[in-house]
Amino acid sequence: MGFLFDLIDNPPVDAEACWLWPGRPRPDGYGVTSDPILGSTGYAHRIVYRWLVGPIPHEMQLDHLCRVKLCVNPAHLEVVTGAENIRRAAGRFGHVRQLPSGNWQALYSRDGTKHKAPGTFADLADAEAWLQAADRRDQEAIARALSDLATDGG
Ligand SMILES: [Zn+2]
Repeated sequence: MGFLFDLIDNPPVDAEACWLWPGRPRPDGYGVTSDPILGSTGYAHRIVYRWLVGPIPHEMQLDHLCRVKLCVNPAHLEVVTGAENIRRAAGRFGHVRQLPSGNWQALYSRDGTKHKAPGTFADLADAEAWLQAADRRDQEAIARALSDLATDGG
């Protein structure tokens, strides 16, 4: 609750960065808090968005463009339909999560296999960079496989 009022009074200086909701996340990885006016408990990113931006249209969801579930920076959130949110999540490469140690872990799954970065990252940006590099390698491998197929089929 204190963090919400801090955000309203003093938005973080770094408007570009992820604003990580402090405290224990829900089992699904999202921050949770109670709305000081409504008194109801809900997702921290939705409550912060309503306070700093405005109402979220009925049955609409907020998509984390930054893929960090604990992030409550409204600039990283986009209002989308539930269907669009699911569609986007399916096409998205991997995700990062914060471990109890505070470090970040990057992971993705391909063809039913889970792949993890060999270590953890102190900086969120480094974890994201690892995922991007893995995504590139993955895309290149697919492109190579496709061009091999084309050659073999010659
Ligand atoms: Zn963010």
